[in-house]
Amino acid sequence: MSAEIINGKKIADQIKIELKDEIEDLKKQGLTPGLATILVGNDPASSTYVRMKEKMCNELGILTKSFRLPVETIEDELVAIVTDLKIDNEIHGILVQLPLPKHINERNIIRTIPESKDVDGFHPLSWSKMMTGEDTFLPCTPAGIQEMLIRSGHNPNKKHVVIIGRSQIVGLPLANILVRKTSGANATVTICHTGTKDLSHFTKQAEILIAAIGKPELVTADMVNENAVIIDVGVNRVEAPETDKGYRLVGDVHFESVSQKVKAISPVPGGVGPMTIIMLMRNTVKAAKQFIKV
Ligand code: NAD
Repeated sequence: MSAEIINGKKIADQIKIELKDEIEDLKKQGLTPGLATILVGNDPASSTYVRMKEKMCNELGILTKSFRLPVETIEDELVAIVTDLKIDNEIHGILVQLPLPKHINERNIIRTIPESKDVDGFHPLSWSKMMTGEDTFLPCTPAGIQEMLIRSGHNPNKKHVVIIGRSQIVGLPLANILVRKTSGANATVTICHTGTKDLSHFTKQAEILIAAIGKPELVTADMVNENAVIIDVGVNRVEAPETDKGYRLVGDVHFESVSQKVKAISPVPGGVGPMTIIMLMRNTVKAAKQFIKV
C-alpha cells in the first residue's frame, strides 16, 4: 500500500495566500515588510536557497535588499553591513545565509543581528525565549515541520515523535517545540544522533519519525513501523550523470521503499523545503507588524 504524501508545497501555498492578505493590510497602513538577504561566497546550494527566498519575497510583495559578498569578505565587513541594517527602517528582517566561510565566526554575526529583526530565530535571545515558551521568532525549519504536521492532520499531540539529528537549526529546536504543553505539540520526544546505539530500536517505535541527518536515504523500510508518519528534512545531492545538472536531490529517507510501508510521508523535494521558506516569510511579516506597533 502506498503512503499518503504530505505535500509541503501545497500547504505552503495556502499559507502564502494568508500572508498576502496580511501584507496588503500592512501596506494600507503605509508599511511594506522588508527582508535583507546576505550571502557570502558562492556555495551553489546556499545561492539556490537565497534565490528561492528572494523569489518568494517578490511574489508576496515583500521588499528585499540583497547583498552578495565575495568569499574573502572579512568578519568586520559583514558586521558593518548588519550594523547598518539594524537601523534601516525599510528592513524588518535580516537573513544571513549559513553556513558562512570558515574564517567568519557565525555566532558573532548572529549576535550582531538585533533580536527584533532575527527572522531566522538563531539569536541567543530568541533561543532562550523559545526555551521558556515566550513569544519569539521560531527557527523556520522546525516551525515549518510543526505547521506541516498540524495542517496535514497529523497533530503531534500525545504522539511519540522520534527525531534523528540534534543540530541547532533543526533537531534541538524542533524537540523543544514539539515537547511543549501547547496545542499542536504535547508530544513525547526522543532525539537520536551519532551517539545512539541501535538507531532502529528507536525509529521503529516512532508514531512520527523526523529525519534531519544529512545522509542520503539512511532511513530504510526495515527501520520504520507501518503506522508511522515520516517527515524527511534531508536535502542531499547524489550523482546522476544522466540528468542535465549531473545530480539529483534525495532526502534522508529511502522514499521508494519507505513510502510503500508507512501511513504518510513528506517527499524531497516538495516537503519541508517550501515550509521553511514560507515560515521565513511569516517571521518577516511578524517583524514588520511588531515594527509598526513600536
Ligand atoms: P547537521 O549536520 O548539523 O546535523 C545532522 C545530525 O544528524 C547530527 O546531529 C548528527 O548527530 C545526526 N547524525 C548524523 N549521522 C547519523 C547517523 N548515522 N545516525 C544517527 N544520527 C546521525 O545537519 P542539519 O543542519 O540538521 O541538516 C540535516 C539535513 O537537513 C541536511 O540534509 C540539510 O541539508 C537538511 N536541511 C533541510 C532544510 C530544509 O528546509 N529542507 C533545512 C535545514 C536542513
